[in-house]
Amino acid sequence: MKPQDAWNATLNQLEIQLDRASFETWLRGTLYLSCDEATAPGEPSTLVIGVRNTYARDMLQHRLYGLVCRVLNDAWDRPADVRFEVSKVEQQTAPAEADMPLLRYLAQQKAENVPVPLHQRVAPPRRPDLPACELNPRFTFDRFVVGGANRTIYAAAQAVAESPASTYNPLLIYGGVGLGKTHLLQAIAHACRARGLAAVYIPSEAFVNDLVDAIRQRTTAMFREKYRTLDVLLVDDIQFLSGKESTQEEFFHTFNALYTFNKQIVLASDRHPRELETLEDRLRSRFAGGLVMDVQPPEFETRIAIIESWAHEKDIRIPRSVSELVAERASDNIRELEGMFTQVVAQVHLTRQPVTLALAEAALAQYERPRQHKQRAVAFKDILSATAAHHGLSAKDLTGKQRAARINHARQVAMYLARELTDLSLPQIGIALGGRSHTTILHGYNKVADLAAEDALFRYELAALRDKLTQNDT
Ligand code: ADP
Ligand code: MG
Repeated sequence: MKPQDAWNATLNQLEIQLDRASFETWLRGTLYLSCDEATAPGEPSTLVIGVRNTYARDMLQHRLYGLVCRVLNDAWDRPADVRFEVSKVEQQTAPAEADMPLLRYLAQQKAENVPVPLHQRVAPPRRPDLPACELNPRFTFDRFVVGGANRTIYAAAQAVAESPASTYNPLLIYGGVGLGKTHLLQAIAHACRARGLAAVYIPSEAFVNDLVDAIRQRTTAMFREKYRTLDVLLVDDIQFLSGKESTQEEFFHTFNALYTFNKQIVLASDRHPRELETLEDRLRSRFAGGLVMDVQPPEFETRIAIIESWAHEKDIRIPRSVSELVAERASDNIRELEGMFTQVVAQVHLTRQPVTLALAEAALAQYERPRQHKQRAVAFKDILSATAAHHGLSAKDLTGKQRAARINHARQVAMYLARELTDLSLPQIGIALGGRSHTTILHGYNKVADLAAEDALFRYELAALRDKLTQNDT
C-alpha cells in the first residue's frame, strides 16, 4: 500500500471512530505530504501530514496522536509513525471559509440576509443547516430525563430557552463528564432554533480553531461581527480555553459584544470557573456574573428512568431487574450508562432472545474491571498535597501545630477527604496528620460534612477537590 493510500484508509477509519465534531475540526482536510522511509528493518516509516495551522497541529500532536498512530498502524502493513506539519500548500489553495464550519455557516447566513434584529423580524427566517456544529437530534428537552438532582438545572435551561437574554445571562453549566451538559446546551439550541432564533452551538475547540484561522487570514473583525448577528451562542467545554491567552482575549471581546447587544450566552465546562486555572480574571468574573450551576450525577431512580426512556425509544422491553442492574453498575456517569445499555441491546439483537438478567450480566461482564480501577484508593499524601495547594498552603502547614482559622479549615478538609477516600482508620488519619487524636479527626470530619450540607459553594469546592483526587490519571 502506498503511503498516500495508508493515510486515506486511516482517515476513513478515524471518521468512524471519532465523534463528528472532532473529526471535522481536526482531521477533515488534512493532507498527505511525504513519507520518511524507515532506515532499518523494524523501524517505523513516518508519514508527514499537512494541517492548516499550528493550533490544529498541536491539538493533533497532543490529544489525538496515540489514536491516529494506532489506526495508521492497523491500516498499513508496516510499523508507522506520524508527524503533523503546517501545510503551506493547503493554506493557499483552500479559501478560509471553506474550511471553517462556523464562518461558512455565518457567511451563508449573511448571504441569505438572515441576521435582522429579532424585534424587526416578521416571520422566522429560513436557516441553513449547520455543517460541523450540527446538533444531535436526540439532545432535546423532551429526551432529557428529569429527576431529583438535575431538576433545577433543567428548569434554568428551559427558562433560558424560553426567554433568551432575559433570565440568566450568561448561563454556565458545569460538572463531570457524561452528566448531560452537552445535551442541555443542545436542547436550548434546538428550542431556540425551533422558534426561528439564530442559535449556534460550538465546542470551544472549534471556536478556537476558527479564530486562529481568522487571525491568520486577518479577518478577526469579520469574525467578531458575524458572531454579533447571533441570538444565542452556546460554547461547550470552555475548560479548553484555559491557558490560551490570545484566544481568551478574543473570546472576551466576542462575549462582551454579544452581551452588550443583549444576546444570550450559554457555556459548559467540566469544572467551576474558579477551578479554571489561567483563565483571565475578567473572563472569569464575567462568567460568575450570570448563573453558574452544576449538573449533579443522577440518583439511582433517575438512572433507572433514563434507561427506561432509552428502552422505550428503541421499542425494547427491559425487565425492571435489568434496568436496576445497569443503573447500579454505572454509578456516576450517564455516558457509561449509555455504553452499558448499548451492550445489553447488542446482546439482545445478537442472540435474538428476550432480555433477561443472565443475559444482561453476560453483556456487562467487561464493565466490572474499570469500575474497580476507578475506585482505587487515594494515597493520603496526595490528599495532603492537593488540599494544601488548593488552600494556598503547604503540606507542613496541615500537619503542623498552627491553629489559624484558615489552616484549621484546610486541615479539616484533609481529615474529611482522608476518611472518605482512603481506608485509613480515624486514629491512623490522626497520626498521619501530625499526631492528632481520633476525636479531633471525627470532629473535623463532621464540621466539613455539616458545612458542605449547608453551603453550596463549599460543596462544589469539595466536590472539585475530590474529583481531582479520584480522577483516573492513566
Ligand atoms: P457531558 O456533555 O456532560 O459530558 P452529555 O451531554 O454528552 O454529557 O451526556 C452523555 C450522554 O448521556 C448523552 O447521550 C446524553 O443524551 C445522556 N444523558 C445525560 N443526561 C441525561 C438525562 N438526564 N436524561 C437522558 N439522557 C441523558
Ligand atoms: Mg459534553
